[in-house]
Amino acid sequence: MNTDLSCFRVNQAGYAAGLPVTAAVLGGSPVVLKDESGNIVREIVFEVPDTDPASGDRVTLLSLGVLEEGVYTLKSGGGSRRFSVRRDAWDAVTHALIKGLYYQRCGCGLDPAYAGVYAHPACHTAPALDWADRNVSRKVYGGWHDAGDYGKYVKPGAVAAAHLLYAWMLFPRGCGGSLNIPESGNGIPDILNEAAFELEWLLRMQREDGAFHHKLTKARFAPFIMPQDDLEQEYLMPVCWCATGSAAACLALASRVYRPFDGDFADRMLQAARRAWRWLQAHPDLVPFTNPEGVRTGGYGSRSDISDRFWAACELFAATGEEEYRLEAEKLFPSVRSLTQFGWSEVGGLGALCCLFILQDKAGDILYTQLKEAFLRQSEEPLSLSRASGYGTGIAADRYVWGSILPILSGAMAMIMTALLTGREDMRRAALLQWHYALGMNALDLCFVTGFGNRQVMHPHHRPSGADGIDMPVPGLISGGPNKVFCYPQTKERLSDAPPAKHFLDETMSADTNEIAVYWNSPAVFVGACFNQFSRI
Ligand SMILES: [Zn+2]
Repeated sequence: MNTDLSCFRVNQAGYAAGLPVTAAVLGGSPVVLKDESGNIVREIVFEVPDTDPASGDRVTLLSLGVLEEGVYTLKSGGGSRRFSVRRDAWDAVTHALIKGLYYQRCGCGLDPAYAGVYAHPACHTAPALDWADRNVSRKVYGGWHDAGDYGKYVKPGAVAAAHLLYAWMLFPRGCGGSLNIPESGNGIPDILNEAAFELEWLLRMQREDGAFHHKLTKARFAPFIMPQDDLEQEYLMPVCWCATGSAAACLALASRVYRPFDGDFADRMLQAARRAWRWLQAHPDLVPFTNPEGVRTGGYGSRSDISDRFWAACELFAATGEEEYRLEAEKLFPSVRSLTQFGWSEVGGLGALCCLFILQDKAGDILYTQLKEAFLRQSEEPLSLSRASGYGTGIAADRYVWGSILPILSGAMAMIMTALLTGREDMRRAALLQWHYALGMNALDLCFVTGFGNRQVMHPHHRPSGADGIDMPVPGLISGGPNKVFCYPQTKERLSDAPPAKHFLDETMSADTNEIAVYWNSPAVFVGACFNQFSRI
């Protein structure tokens, strides 16, 4: 890793020709931008700003305008930094973020033809036992390892798959290329091939009565070993209301997306979604999921299933046109807490995506006109937070949580949607700043996507990356990033005075700041696909 810090913070994957270039600079020395021949392109003089509360930096965003393809150098009294501008600047990183999910595949081996040095034999192929009734044994192979651990969780997986499907529906040219995965060349776009691997597993996680198991994990997390060496018994954990709602939504959505490619797969998914919905209707009162006694794997508990039910009703209406679902969605709409969140907890944003971009005029007054008004209002929040931040980052200084990359990218998704709905350039620019954040324009001067950038995350909390004996981590995985809200005591001790946006350790055991997760990769795919497509127009 290049350890020379200059006063500049840039998108280390480069910038796209055709889109405005923004870089960050510390201090107040005048800045000169030069092209490859040494010609001065811009000279910028600015006042030293106040200290940015999240980072403790005196940082200024430099708007460098739209630049032609080439290599440029920023210079000031505080050093210099090179960056490139290319038409296809974000093609490779967007596709790597999708391929990062291939490396998380479970229940199969990763073949060297597709995984290169990161190949490994099949993992987690033994039948699972039902936690509540050990006499019940089922084959529930497949799916993606959720994060740094080897667990598989229904709701986070459904959300991640949905992000991929919406990325493909809205920005097909930004994410439609080949990934070199086993299914490549089968006539289906590879982003859909990769999502289908997770969807097939989701179908296996449904109980006969329509409910979905919360997760498939062991009783506790494995040590840092390779997945094929993790041979402890896996269990189907109890069913979960939120997981059932989000799985119904994701499968109904997927049934529309895959119908032109595979009608049988689409039918199976829609039937599963309907059965899940019927189970929810028969069980109106949420029992929040908590780990059974003796289980120590991820909780992912929610106190409300409103947003899951809402998203499911929207997608089932979109998939079937049946009024029952529209009426349910309308009934739930006033209780949906947020329309701009897209994570494993609140999924109202995914319902908004369905209403605003799929249903549109079919949605009616409540689910289009009223929802759009509320959505546009709520999407002002990440914009105003971005404006108040030295680096343009769309979260508040006290919201650097475990996986802060998720609220940052959720905000970007919301702002992209508003830009598409209204044509607002300020929203598009602010969303782009979040993409730059992920790729290096941040207080740590760190590209959070493995395999990219001259200062990149090298030691993610990710078991295969820690156990495979290879120096470079598995590529295309995005780190959760700084966390100063709920972090380990040892992290606090080591970083006591660090401001929130620098509360980060690039260390394998720092799960609280440097874990990876499939549902952090997936919003990055959505944002990357968007700007990768815009940059090609
Ligand atoms: Zn596995």
